[in-house]
Amino acid sequence: MRRHSGLAAVLIAVSLPLAALPCLEAAGADGARELAQASVRGGQSLAYASALTAIGPRLTGSASYQRAADWSAEQFRALGLAHTILEPFTIDRGWERVSARARLVAPADRALHVAALGWTPSTPEGGFDADVVAVDSFSPSAVAANQALHGRIALLPDGDPSGNPETAARTRRDFAVALRAAGVLAMISPDTDAANEISARGFGFGTAIAVLPAAQIGRDDAGMIRRLLARGAVRMSLELINRITPAAASVDNVIADLPGSDRSDEWVVVGAHLDAWDFGAGAQDNATGAAMVLEAARAIAALKAPPRRSIRFALWGGEEQGQIGSSAYIRSHASELDHVVAYLNTDAGTGPIIGWTAPGREEVIRAVRPLTQDVLRDLGAASFDDSLRYAFQSDGAAFILAGIPTLDLNADDTKYEEIHHKAADTMDRVDAHNLAIAAAAVAATAYAIADAPGRIGARQRPRTKRMD
Ligand SMILES: [Zn+2]
Repeated sequence: MRRHSGLAAVLIAVSLPLAALPCLEAAGADGARELAQASVRGGQSLAYASALTAIGPRLTGSASYQRAADWSAEQFRALGLAHTILEPFTIDRGWERVSARARLVAPADRALHVAALGWTPSTPEGGFDADVVAVDSFSPSAVAANQALHGRIALLPDGDPSGNPETAARTRRDFAVALRAAGVLAMISPDTDAANEISARGFGFGTAIAVLPAAQIGRDDAGMIRRLLARGAVRMSLELINRITPAAASVDNVIADLPGSDRSDEWVVVGAHLDAWDFGAGAQDNATGAAMVLEAARAIAALKAPPRRSIRFALWGGEEQGQIGSSAYIRSHASELDHVVAYLNTDAGTGPIIGWTAPGREEVIRAVRPLTQDVLRDLGAASFDDSLRYAFQSDGAAFILAGIPTLDLNADDTKYEEIHHKAADTMDRVDAHNLAIAAAAVAATAYAIADAPGRIGARQRPRTKRMD
C-alpha cells in the first residue's frame, strides 16, 4: 500500500509545477531531494534505454556490445565526466548464434522449436540425422555405463543438476564430457517455459565452449518426443551453426568518474550490466538498468555541486555469463577497494519500484535509511530488506564477496518472468513511469550516500565462498 501512495506522490510531481507540490516542497531542499525531483521531471532514462536497445542485442563480446560500450562512454563524456574509460577484461571465446534447425523425421515429420545454448559448438554444416535417446539423470557414471548412446542425440532431463549453482555447473560439465566419451553427437535440453516458448541461456556459466553441440527445445516438443520414445524409435535432424572467435576475446566495461568535492579518494560505485541475451532487445535485462546509471550520472552532473565523495558509474559486460565483468573489476581494482564505500546495483526491470536490498547487511540498512527515507518515501521506494534471495544473481555478487556494503535495487517482479531472456524483452514492455522513478531513486540514493558525513558500513573481510 505504501508503494501505491508513494507512486501517487510522484505522479503529482510529474504533472504539476514545483510550487504546487506541498509534499515534496515541505521537506526542504536537501540535495538528494532536489536531485530526485529534477530527475523525475527532466530525466532521460527512457531515451537512454531506447538508444541502447536500438544498438542491438549486446551479447557479451559481440560487435553490438562494443557499439553499446562506445556509445555509453560517449554519453558519460558528453555529461562532462572527463575521466571515462573503457576497461577491458578477457573472455575465453566470443560466441554468437547464426542459425538453429531441428526437425523430427521419424516416426512423424514436423519442425521443432529450437535454439542453441550459449557458448556451445556448431554441428557440422548441414547438420545430421540421428536417433534420440532420453537420459534420465545428470549422473556421469550412469552415462558411462550406457551402451545405447553412441551416435545418438541425448535428450537431457528437465531442469538443472541439483546443488548450488557452482556444483550444478560442474556436474553439467562432467555430464557433457561423459556424453561425448559415450559417442553422443549432440545434447537437447527441454526449456522450462510453457507453450514451447524458449528463453535464452548458456549450457552453463562461463565463456569456455562446451564439449558438445547443445540446444534447448520447447518443453512441449520434449514431452512429445518422450511419449514417442515410449512407443519406439525417434529420429531427428539437427543443425546448429554458431559463430565462435578463434581465440580469447577482449570485452570492455565502461567506467566513468564524477569527482567528489571533499573526499574524492572515496567512491560510491553505481553499476548495471550492459550486456544482454540476444532473443529480444535486452530492454529490461538490462538496458533499463544501464539507463538508470546513465540518468543518475546526468542528473548528478547537472547539479554542478558534486557530493563529498566521488561517484563511479560502471556498466559491466559478461553478467549473463556469470558476472565476469564486475568480477574482473574487483580483481583489477583490489588495491583500492577499501576506498569503495558502497556499491549500488540496478538489474530488476521496470516493475513498480519497492526499494533496496542490502544482502546480509542489516546495519547498512540502518545507516542508509535516515539518509534517504524522505526522498525514497516520495518515490515509493522506501522499503529496505536484507534478503540474500537475489544476492548472487547480478553484479552485486562480486562486491558482496569483497565485503563492500552493497545495495541492489528492488522492484516488483511479478511480471518479470514474462520477458526474462525472452523475445518479448523489448521497449514495448518497458514501463516508462516506473523507469523514471527508479532512475531518480538510484540518483538520489547514490548522492545521499556519497554526501553523507560518515560511511554507511565497514568493509567486511572478503569471502571466498558464496553464502548460499
Ligand atoms: Zn540482468
